[in-house]
Amino acid sequence: IRDWVKDYCRKNGLLTLSVLAVITGCVVGFMLRSLNLSTQAKIYFSFPGELLMRMLKMLILPLITSSLMSGLSAMDTKASGRLGLLTITYYLWTTFIAVIVGIILVLLVHPGTGTEKEGHKASGGPVMTSADALLDLIRNMIPSNLIEATFQQYKTDLVPNVKSIPLESQANYVYIMPDHDNPKMGHPVFLELTPAPEIHYKVVPGKSSQMNVLGIVIFSATMGLLLGRMGERGSPLVNVCLCINECVMKIINAAMWYFPFGIVFLVAGKILDMHDPVILAEKLGMYFITVLAGLFVHGVILLPMFFFIFTKKNPFSYIRGLLQALVIALATSSSSATLPITMKCLLENCHVDRKIARFVLPVGATINMDGTALYEAVAAIFIAQVNEYELDFGQLVTISITATAASIGAAGIPQAGLVTMVIVLTSVGLPPDDITLIVAIDWILDRFRTMINVLGDALAAGIMAHLCRKDFQPKGPPNNDQRRDT
Ligand code: ASP
Repeated sequence: IRDWVKDYCRKNGLLTLSVLAVITGCVVGFMLRSLNLSTQAKIYFSFPGELLMRMLKMLILPLITSSLMSGLSAMDTKASGRLGLLTITYYLWTTFIAVIVGIILVLLVHPGTGTEKEGHKASGGPVMTSADALLDLIRNMIPSNLIEATFQQYKTDLVPNVKSIPLESQANYVYIMPDHDNPKMGHPVFLELTPAPEIHYKVVPGKSSQMNVLGIVIFSATMGLLLGRMGERGSPLVNVCLCINECVMKIINAAMWYFPFGIVFLVAGKILDMHDPVILAEKLGMYFITVLAGLFVHGVILLPMFFFIFTKKNPFSYIRGLLQALVIALATSSSSATLPITMKCLLENCHVDRKIARFVLPVGATINMDGTALYEAVAAIFIAQVNEYELDFGQLVTISITATAASIGAAGIPQAGLVTMVIVLTSVGLPPDDITLIVAIDWILDRFRTMINVLGDALAAGIMAHLCRKDFQPKGPPNNDQRRDT
């Protein structure tokens, strides 16, 4: 038995601790809620969790740049072109399938019909359009200043124009769009107003203090491709990238032992901060179940099925190697922050070719969000149902396209999908203010959709490694990358 315990701890100890940490975090969080801690006490309490997030975020920039530059530089143009094309096609295809799953489920379950509307109705007709969001996406692809891109991205946003709240309204809470300058990582904020809650929004083109991952991915990928073409002349920079990559992986290995501790406080801190009371009224409850069911169908049935069809390997033993990353996704709600762990799991547990993982994962964490796309489609149709607004077939098609686009535009950060949903809602004439209807439970759904986002990227890497294996078999004398990999 002792041997078994030792063997188990060596293989699964960290994972077990992380799962226990999520559970402990929930229990501690709910217990402490009754103590009504002050804001200051909550900040102190959440500090170890904040450190965990900071550690993970610290690694995103070196990991993405070094992975893409070294990964792509080691591929010949034909191989990288084929991998790029297959990866992007696969990503778009699976995202679209996720949206269709969401649409079918929400039309079958019809969570939005029933008694009268819940939540707070805002007014004041925001004028942020799909075009605004599309322009932001393109702006972010071409950062005008690379240094600035490491801490800022363009983001046109709707901000409540608090001044115009009429004073004679009822006391209530008002939802304020995620504030990315807020130390709490851009979670939505509830503003308690007495009296409230008629909100007028204004469109504010500007920047948010979040890393422009898309711009950095595009720049690093271009650099990687060019370095590959430069041959020997490019190898000093490629070697630097390989060293950075190796160091980042070592930092992750060391930091992993802190994760279970950090997770307890991260999860408990979130529960302490939760808006009170969360009323899971009937419609909202059904909406919650519909999104979860959709995520389950996509993540546990369809994605593994695609993996099996393409690779003929057992998807669930592959997924077993990813569990640590999935727990971190659940705890952090951020696929970008989870990226270093996903990379570690893929390389060490799933044995995916390094060059492929270094390309497929960072790109996936930026543009491939199946869970987010599914949720956006369900949420948009749910809001239509609550408003008793009949959607015709053309509008459903519009929702499927815009939900796909909105998920591509969403950053891999907590609740980014809630913001890009404005694109989906405005595309079919639904009131964007009605996201206030679903916001109370969004932070929980965010955790599950982030898990599916991460799972989608990791399974894609396995599929690409299989499909492109011939392109990546070592030919001739080993290059720097191969030497280091062995
Ligand atoms: N939190 C999600 C992620 O990081 C994005 C979202 O759906 O809000 O993947």
